[in-house]
Amino acid sequence: MPTSRPGRVPAATRAERFAVLDPATGEAFDEAPDQRPKELDAVVARAHAAWPGWRSDPTSRAKALLTAADAVEAAGARLAPLLTREQGKPLSESYAEVARVAARLRYFADPALSAPRPRRITDGRPVRGEVRWRPLGPVAAIVPWNFPLQLASAKFAPALAAGNTVVLKPSPFTPLATRLLGSVISAALPEDVLTIVTGREPLGARLASHPGIRHVTFTGSVPTGRAVAAGASASLARVTLELGGNDAAVLLDDVDVERIAERLFWAAFRNCGQVCMAVKRVYAPARLYSQVVEALAHHARTVVVGAGLDPDSRLGPVNNAPQLARVERCTARALAAGARAAAGGHRLERPGYFFAPTVLADVPPTDPVVTDEQFGPVLPVLPYDSLDEAVAAANDTGFGLGGSVWGTDLDRAEAVADRLECGTAWINHHAELSLAQPFAGIKDSGVGVAGGPWGLYGNLRPFVVHRPEEP
Ligand code: NAD
Repeated sequence: MPTSRPGRVPAATRAERFAVLDPATGEAFDEAPDQRPKELDAVVARAHAAWPGWRSDPTSRAKALLTAADAVEAAGARLAPLLTREQGKPLSESYAEVARVAARLRYFADPALSAPRPRRITDGRPVRGEVRWRPLGPVAAIVPWNFPLQLASAKFAPALAAGNTVVLKPSPFTPLATRLLGSVISAALPEDVLTIVTGREPLGARLASHPGIRHVTFTGSVPTGRAVAAGASASLARVTLELGGNDAAVLLDDVDVERIAERLFWAAFRNCGQVCMAVKRVYAPARLYSQVVEALAHHARTVVVGAGLDPDSRLGPVNNAPQLARVERCTARALAAGARAAAGGHRLERPGYFFAPTVLADVPPTDPVVTDEQFGPVLPVLPYDSLDEAVAAANDTGFGLGGSVWGTDLDRAEAVADRLECGTAWINHHAELSLAQPFAGIKDSGVGVAGGPWGLYGNLRPFVVHRPEEP
């Protein structure tokens, strides 16, 4: 039975592989199994077979997840460089991503969280009701290429902790670190509890619509999210979608520009802007507009851009050629529409998928670089005259993932943050998530909740027992 578990790929499928490119060079450096949709039947069948054992014993489950967390930490020096090689991010960020995976496994291994206590309910009648929580069955997890390990763990850690088995498919742009992570974690778990499958489409489509899957948890773009939801409708599996974002940062008129500029810059440019909840638009009071543009442009011009494995690099390449083309296209269109590049505005003349960190001023507010998700190292800055106007502009988007407000008077900033229509609003920072918080976008940013106890409940179903007080 074919599977992508290292060491278990049968000879017959060894020829079916696809190249994995290093975005810092644009050249292939390795390959991964290109599994066919039909192979999934066997993988899902094994995930089903492994489920009763895994769901039966919460104590062993918690222990196994803690062992897995230790193993992930111990494998950091193997995982992080591989992640940087295929994804492009600076090595320090890859190490941080690996650490986050271990932390998330530990968080969900806590029995107080992962084995929710039954709850007695009553409505005054002589029948006692008790709500118990049950796992769903095999869960399909489908993730993108921007945070391959971290986003994978955001799916498998709560799903496994809740007593489900998981079949995980990484992006074909970043399959390798996830395969290695899978083998590291699987060594701590019973066989077939977590299986990684790799391959190009239609593998994801088949996984999303597989009749043996009971929950499809997807992170990626809006169009693919819609396709996933449509596919899962065939089996009526539960669907959780974490999709795009177009987060606004609203700067108030009492903001200390020099103090926040570097933090704001990184909130937009970390991981080369390829972050669902990055700052993707900045609204600055007209009085401070030039100062804000110049402060951000200064960081964009001076940040060290280079291969992630180079210890001096703070910003790596864009992950892949289609994404680079998209960033180039949306920047060129904005410049043609009258925007001014206060920094960058073009590809870097070097091998690989490098784009100069770009700050755009004087952008028409209706330009797609403002209204859509650019998902790259390009940041439009827009002026506003009244706060109401800024809040309305921040909310005038089809997305609703996050937003932030920056100022000196924290109470006033919080009052403005409260008016943002999104899942998470930050004050004086952006895109930092607690493991314990719910993460749920509104509008096109998603369906369902990930993170914290809510993420766990997304992988459980209520089961109710009614029992009379007397026989
Ligand atoms: P994508 O939608 O192209 O791909 C995501 C995953 O879906 C990949 O594994 C891909 O192979 C798979 N896939 C492709 N077609 C499929 C299909 N028909 N059925 C099932 N699976 C399919 O997204 P991407 O380009 O890899 O990632 C970038 C997008 O992800 C951005 O829009 C970004 O905002 C979003 N994102 C969202 C979050 C969040 O938590 N909200 C986090 C990170 C990234």
